[in-house]
Amino acid sequence: MNKEPKAVLCYGDSNTYGLEPLPGGRYPLKVRWTTQLQEQLGDGYIVIPEGLSGRTTDFDRVDAPYKRGLPPLKAILGSHVPVDVFIVMLGTNDCIAEVGASPEEIAGGMERFLKAAREAFEEFQEFQPAYILAAPAPVGPNYAVSTDEAVDESMYIKSHQLAGLYEPLAAKYGCIFVDGAGTEISALDSEHLTEEGHRQIAALMYEAVTSLEGTQDLKAETKETDADKHYVITDDCIGCGYCLAACPAICIEGTLIPFTIEQEKCQHCGACQDICPSDAIALL
Ligand code: SF4
Ligand code: SF4
Repeated sequence: MNKEPKAVLCYGDSNTYGLEPLPGGRYPLKVRWTTQLQEQLGDGYIVIPEGLSGRTTDFDRVDAPYKRGLPPLKAILGSHVPVDVFIVMLGTNDCIAEVGASPEEIAGGMERFLKAAREAFEEFQEFQPAYILAAPAPVGPNYAVSTDEAVDESMYIKSHQLAGLYEPLAAKYGCIFVDGAGTEISALDSEHLTEEGHRQIAALMYEAVTSLEGTQDLKAETKETDADKHYVITDDCIGCGYCLAACPAICIEGTLIPFTIEQEKCQHCGACQDICPSDAIALL
């Protein structure tokens, strides 16, 4: 039986586009991390690159309003649904002095972005995709001699703080967190991935996507063997909302604590139980 490949949409900036540090063109297709991810994942997936140089999470760029990541998000998602895995790797351009945002404000931009993505997917498809939130590779130590004059010490400092702010955000919104720290950045401009950096990002994303696949396969088995059981939320619920973000069927009611599950819509995937920090979800 032919199965549709799972769609992996990669929303990012120049490092998802594949900008080459010098001479500033685009890396050949085979070098870009999105292409390498496609090759590694194989025919069961279709990887969709959506990278724009200079893109921010939700901040204006002088003379380039189209680089603000959030406003076109809904239109772009609408062009690609159904999406099974949504990867977002943004934040480097938010650190540029011209934007004037603090690391905390940048994390706020990312939170608005994640909320907007969730709302759009809720409207466009009957399930939420799995989310992978990646902190981009921070600016390299040669920033003082970067070929890009926008790269400076302030950008270096801010970019190194993003992972620490994104990781809790990922937990809050039920995303897999990927940290781009340690992936190789060009010594020429201190902001763009080298070929080795693209290989490293592809490996990190492959690990994240396949860890998800393993979980989903496990859940498929659970669904068959536990078909006569139901996930229920107990009084241990603290109302944190993690299950809301994780539920692909949007069938958790979160107005009152403890939260409740609409049993008719539940897909028995178990994602809520896996993410609950209070062990408040039981299979009965
Ligand atoms: S059921 Fe668990 S994950 Fe959901 S709101 Fe309650 S404590 Fe949080
Ligand atoms: S098992 Fe939990 S996460 Fe999965 S569909 Fe049911 S309520 Fe939603």
